[in-house]
Amino acid sequence: MTERFTPDEKRLKSVEENYKRILERVGECAVKSGRSENDVRLMCVTKTVEPVYINRAIELGADLIGENRVQEYLGKRDELNLDSVERHLIGHLQTNKVRQIVGEVDMIESVSSLKLAKEISKVSLSKDIVSNCLVEVNIGKEQSKSGVFAEELEEFLYEISELGGIKIKGLMTIPPICESQTEARRYFAAMQGYFIDIRDKKIDNVDMEILSMGMSADFEAAISEGSNIVRVGSAIFGERKYF
Ligand SMILES: *Cc1c(COP(=O)(O)O)cnc(C)c1O
Repeated sequence: MTERFTPDEKRLKSVEENYKRILERVGECAVKSGRSENDVRLMCVTKTVEPVYINRAIELGADLIGENRVQEYLGKRDELNLDSVERHLIGHLQTNKVRQIVGEVDMIESVSSLKLAKEISKVSLSKDIVSNCLVEVNIGKEQSKSGVFAEELEEFLYEISELGGIKIKGLMTIPPICESQTEARRYFAAMQGYFIDIRDKKIDNVDMEILSMGMSADFEAAISEGSNIVRVGSAIFGERKYF
């Protein structure tokens, strides 16, 4: 894919402009919600994006990227300038891919079942590492999405807290597609409620530090409701083309 690939200068330019503008909006929104500019991190979501565009964002200071697919990430990471960049897996993870990804990313944001958590635990222990993870919450109880239902979250966390090799650092969610940011905001507010409740329970081996929510269309609403990682793809890199 990349050998004969010539980057599109116009697109490079627009990635640059988009990245700077989004970063500014994230900072402004953080301040508006009573936090400091640096309290909310901007993740560049890089699925389907060619390395040259991702590297441009990295040159501008992007220090956190999110990939959805294990194969895609492993296939392109050698072309990325990742020295000072944190890498998160944000897409649905199948149990049979766990061995390939554990130890290769800094965080798995999409822990959506106990079966998956157990596999991450097992593989991490065998590699003698601890995998930092977020629990994905299916806040809209959608059949099409994976993730734990809010009502089951506490029980789920108590069970994970017993496992070795895995450390829960917070929660992640993708709300249902909403007509407006106002509508999305209700889901984000609910998430913040669960996040705080659980944090106050101080479960052993479970830290509630990260609340990962908000994407291109709704990151401002998410920040207003306490998000501290927003995952932005198309607003930075342009519309995705699937091959
Ligand atoms: C693709 C994706 C995003 C980014 O979506 P955009 O709307 O392009 O910003 C964020 N989170 C997850 C889990 C994704 O799969």
